[in-house]
Amino acid sequence: MREFLTQPLSDTDPQLAEIIKHEEERQQNTLELIASENHVSVAVRQVAGSVFTNKYAEGYPGRRYYGGCVNMDAVENLARDRAKQLFHCDHVNVQPHSGASANIAVYMACVNPGDTVLSLDLAHGGHLSHGLKVNLSGHLYKIVPYGCSRKDERIDMAEVRRLAREHKPKLIIAGFSAYPRVLDFEAFGEIAREVGARLMSDIAHIAGLVAVGLHPSPIPHSDFTTTTTHKTLRGPRGGMIMCREDDAKLIDKWVFPGTQGGPLMHIIAAKAAAFGEALRPEFKVYQQQILDNAQALAAALRSHGYRLVSGGTDNHLLLVDLRDVHPDLTGKQAEQWLESAGIITNKNMIPFDERKPTQTSGLRLGTPALTTRGLKTGEMKTVADLIHRVLSSDGDEAVVAKIRGEVRDLCAQFPVPHA
Ligand SMILES: *Cc1c(COP(=O)(O)O)cnc(C)c1O
Repeated sequence: MREFLTQPLSDTDPQLAEIIKHEEERQQNTLELIASENHVSVAVRQVAGSVFTNKYAEGYPGRRYYGGCVNMDAVENLARDRAKQLFHCDHVNVQPHSGASANIAVYMACVNPGDTVLSLDLAHGGHLSHGLKVNLSGHLYKIVPYGCSRKDERIDMAEVRRLAREHKPKLIIAGFSAYPRVLDFEAFGEIAREVGARLMSDIAHIAGLVAVGLHPSPIPHSDFTTTTTHKTLRGPRGGMIMCREDDAKLIDKWVFPGTQGGPLMHIIAAKAAAFGEALRPEFKVYQQQILDNAQALAAALRSHGYRLVSGGTDNHLLLVDLRDVHPDLTGKQAEQWLESAGIITNKNMIPFDERKPTQTSGLRLGTPALTTRGLKTGEMKTVADLIHRVLSSDGDEAVVAKIRGEVRDLCAQFPVPHA
């Protein structure tokens, strides 16, 4: 029995070991352009697989429901202290299991079923946890969506203000999963105060940029700032909530016991590891390179005739409108052809899209993962050329197979982080 517990996975469960090996190979041999994904460090993975996975630690440091929590307290305090240093917030809760869980805790803390919530339209780049009909948020609250203007495809703050005055929401949400421009958190804060709403800023996508000052911080303007830890922040999969001291007890109560049970202590430990990495000077260099790469990718795609939603990008992601170059190509088909060539992307609605969400006219591309692997602006031009060739191939298998080979060669020059 004990022997079994100490043998490597390849001996005890070759079937599972094989699947993991295949995923390692897939990540090494494909170009990851999904804007919400990244490759974490070996250290973060090591900590996520540490003995902290064995422990129950319901409660908070100094107030646990179980014995044996001395090291749990140390690691959670470390994660909190580093998060506060990184984001300059008064209080942080590092226990949310995910970005969606973090948002649910905030909803429970400040809105009741039937209350009005003003959030970015999902078809204009909002996130499903901000009011999708079949999500808890859309099920429990009256969602009023704001969107981008037709003129410049940017969030129209005058429209946000008008809707806020008209509908008097209890909560306003500033945040996106597919919007390539800077968010004006200061203006959101002013509007929220004017109408007596609370403001939740969800920086799931841009947390890394915010941490190093390459995107204005929502912290001074928001009641609650939620984020994931696994996107540009490049930590383990998870969430967290930042707020002022006044709301600390309320938020902590609604995370545990309000909406979660025992915290994932191995993931909290890995969050501490990732925040430690993010506090190093190299992390700012990395975030700047993400932005430089996004600019280079945008320029190269434009040179092939592609229109980018809002004309370009200020952050790590771009939304490509496929229609000008390929009027009959849907985002869905583009995503499939690109995947066959080893280029991983996702179809995405563009503002005022005439196609259905299952088809779409857009493609979302992001540079965080490729930047982690060490690709720079020169390679972004190569990547744009590869994308354009795939999209212009009509799905021709021979052409796609040839490009697949070129993608593999490019990947071989830029290994994903491995021990
Ligand atoms: C990714 C994302 C989330 C959800 O994160 P999960 O960890 O997948 O639950 C929440 N909000 C925004 C804006 C996101 O982009």
